[in-house]
Amino acid sequence: MDNWLQKRALLTPKRMALSFKQQSWNFTELKQQVIKVCNHLVGSNIQKLQRVAILGNNTPQLYFTILALQQLGIEIVFINKNLALPEIHYQLQDAQISLLIYADEFQNKLQKLASVTLISLNNLMRAKTSDAADFIKSEFDLNQVTSIMYTSGTTGKPKGVLQTYRNHWSSAIGANLNLPVTAKDTWICAVPLFHISGFSIMMRSLIYGMSVRLYDHFDEESINHDLITGVGTIISVVPYMLKKLLSKKSEPYSSYFSYMLLGGGEIDIATLQACRDEQINVIQSYGMTETASQVVALNPIDAINKIGSVGKPLFPVSLKIADSIALNQVGQVLLKAANISPGYLNETNHNQFTSEGWFKTGDLGYLDSDGFLYLKSRLSELIISGGENIYPREVENVINQFPGIVESAVIGKQNSTWGSVPVAFIVTNKVINLQQLSDYLTSKMAKYKVPKQFILIDELPKTNNGKIRRKLLQSKI
Ligand code: ATP
Ligand code: MG
Repeated sequence: MDNWLQKRALLTPKRMALSFKQQSWNFTELKQQVIKVCNHLVGSNIQKLQRVAILGNNTPQLYFTILALQQLGIEIVFINKNLALPEIHYQLQDAQISLLIYADEFQNKLQKLASVTLISLNNLMRAKTSDAADFIKSEFDLNQVTSIMYTSGTTGKPKGVLQTYRNHWSSAIGANLNLPVTAKDTWICAVPLFHISGFSIMMRSLIYGMSVRLYDHFDEESINHDLITGVGTIISVVPYMLKKLLSKKSEPYSSYFSYMLLGGGEIDIATLQACRDEQINVIQSYGMTETASQVVALNPIDAINKIGSVGKPLFPVSLKIADSIALNQVGQVLLKAANISPGYLNETNHNQFTSEGWFKTGDLGYLDSDGFLYLKSRLSELIISGGENIYPREVENVINQFPGIVESAVIGKQNSTWGSVPVAFIVTNKVINLQQLSDYLTSKMAKYKVPKQFILIDELPKTNNGKIRRKLLQSKI
């Protein structure tokens, strides 16, 4: 396939490609900026490397540099800027990185990183240049890896996910077949470019010819302003962003506003109802780093009557529940789609990828009679007690309704009679009578689901993006 940036600049040269604060670039200007970075990369002989890591905030310079690495056919390893140094070190080693390009504001944090060459974005742009024309790929080989992204590390060590051009292409097409993006749309990107949620917006921009409005941090006032004035028409959000935008919204969004794409977790019904009242279309979605963004989506029209569902598989995505013989039967969610990564870095034959073309997500769920998917828990978090399945999230949702509970996490504890029994870690904001809590739960759910022990904890261990790391709690019981 033709090089996406070159093709886009050829097709719609004058169309707005990117804006950041008061600055903007059309696709011709974007290409020029990217080529400039390419010339510096080649001037520093970086084009020789197979793989380069990058770390920084969402800035235009980072945006250009990511695209420049792609132009030269270099695999981009995205490093989450919020990681601690040992975590960064692990990922750089795992990906056999010799060069890390970083944004200058991370200088202090990174200076102790030995074993890799570091170059800041500012220094890169001061380095000597050499004409990159001969090194720029005229075609993108769909089978080639363009990005490597680490999973969130919710269930263990983060895994490096290989993402090919085909994965991004299929993801972009699937999303657009669900809800088409037009040339008039501008997608607000306040989610990190180092996550698939952010990088997929960049790839969609090239493929659709759509403009991106970039934010270097989540600024609900400015973003609401963009949505009210029509500067932005689509936005990717995680649950806390959606709630923040709603709570600070002072005027209706413009008639150009199209939808919010919600990823990364569940949302409560009160928030969904508030969105409906405010006529804000929300597309809830399910996806993983391994699926190069969303694979299942719940459209606004179904948001309320299919509450709790993550939606239906997108057109290019096949989905089935492992070993299921009936509707509503819970099993592992299996996927087949061109979105799906060819495998993990250093572990391409990992058993999640080797089931006759069906990718094992590690998530448990079921399909209803209309084909809507409901997620129950992760396979690794399932508690089996006396032969009965207990889904931690289901129990946590009830615990969290009890007055004084801020949040909770339920895990299994080994037990000689039952195999495993549920125990709950709870964060409270006032003194709680645990017997009353237990009685309350017994009135709401089957007895085997009620935690046999409650452990008070100041805060739950979480990943950078706010997911509970239940495995870490295992050592505390
Ligand atoms: P790791 O694989 O390292 O344990 P992770 O699975 O959290 O980390 P990601 O790829 O960022 O890493 O997240 C994908 C997972 O997030 C999915 O497998 C699923 O468990 C969860 N998830 C994604 N979307 C939703 C959603 N809409 N509702 C509930 N859970 C979701
Ligand atoms: Mg995962």
